[in-house]
Amino acid sequence: APPDTAAPVTDPLLDRAAATTQSTLDARRVSAWFGTHKVLDRVSLTMPAGKVTALIGPSGCGKSTFLRTLNRMHELVPSAAFAGEVLLDGVDVYDASRRVTEARRHIGMVFQKPNPFPAMSIQDNVVAGLGLTGLKVGKDERAALVESSLTKAGLWKEVKDRLRAPGGGLSGGQQQRLCIARSLAVRPRVLLMDEPCSALDPTSTRRIEETIGELSAEVTIVIVTHNMQQAARVSQQCAFFLAEAGTPGTIVEHGDTEAMFTAPRDPRTYDYVNGRF
Ligand code: ADP
Ligand code: MG
Repeated sequence: APPDTAAPVTDPLLDRAAATTQSTLDARRVSAWFGTHKVLDRVSLTMPAGKVTALIGPSGCGKSTFLRTLNRMHELVPSAAFAGEVLLDGVDVYDASRRVTEARRHIGMVFQKPNPFPAMSIQDNVVAGLGLTGLKVGKDERAALVESSLTKAGLWKEVKDRLRAPGGGLSGGQQQRLCIARSLAVRPRVLLMDEPCSALDPTSTRRIEETIGELSAEVTIVIVTHNMQQAARVSQQCAFFLAEAGTPGTIVEHGDTEAMFTAPRDPRTYDYVNGRF
C-alpha cells in the first residue's frame, strides 16, 4: 500500500484533523506552577503551521513544562497549575467542555527516552495510541495504518518483515522512530518533541532530524533541544527560554532561527547560542 492511504480511522474529529494539513498552535500568556513554585511567567509564542519551532535554553528554565502545557500533559503532575490560553487553530485547548484526551490526540508528544511498550509487538505499539484516545480502527484499516505510520517515521523498511517482534528488541534509534510512528497513528495536527535525540547516537539523531524535516510538511512540530546545531538544522523558528536568578522562565527572544544564531538581538541570547553558559 502507498504510504498515504486515505484516513483509515473512523472518527469525525480525526477526519477533520486529517483534512487539516497545516495547523497553528498559539500560546498566550502561559504561566505554570508546581505547588507554589512558579516556573513559567506569561509566555506567549505562536507556533505557525508548516514550521518547526525549536525551544532552546539552559536546563531548568521551563522548556519541558511549557511543552507539556501545550497538550495539557502537565496535568499528570498533581501539584501543577496553569494560567493562560493555548489555541489550536483558534480553538481553546483548555475549554472546560473539551476532554483532555482530545487535546492529546491532536497534539502528540515524543519524549527524550524512547518509551515503546517493550513486550508489545511493533505493530501493536504503532496502534497502541488509538485505544488510549478512545479511537477504533477496523482490521483491514489497521495494517494500512501501521504501514503508513511506520513509513512516515522512517522505520517501515527496517521492520516490515518482523512486525510481530517485540518493540523492546529494536535499537534505541529505532525505538524512538517507533514512538514517532505511534504518535502519528492518531493523526495529530501538532507533534511536540522533548529532546527526542538526547539519548541517541549521531547516526540515529541524523535520521530523526531527516524525519522531522519530512513530517513538517503536514504536522506542526515543536522541538526542545539543547543542541544548537540541531536547532539550526531542523527549525525555522526558535525561542530562547531563560529563568534568571530564581525567577520563573520567560522567552528572552524568539524569531527566525537563522537570524537568532547569526544576529541575536539580546546579549543573553548571543552568549547562550555561542556556548557561553
Ligand atoms: P527544562 O525542560 O527547561 O530543563 P523544566 O520545565 O523541566 O525545565 O523545569 C522547570 C522548573 O520546574 C524547574 O525548576 C524544575 O525543577 C521544576 N519542575 C519540573 N517538573 C517538576 C515536577 N514534576 N514537580 C516539581 N517541580 C518540577
Ligand atoms: Mg526539559
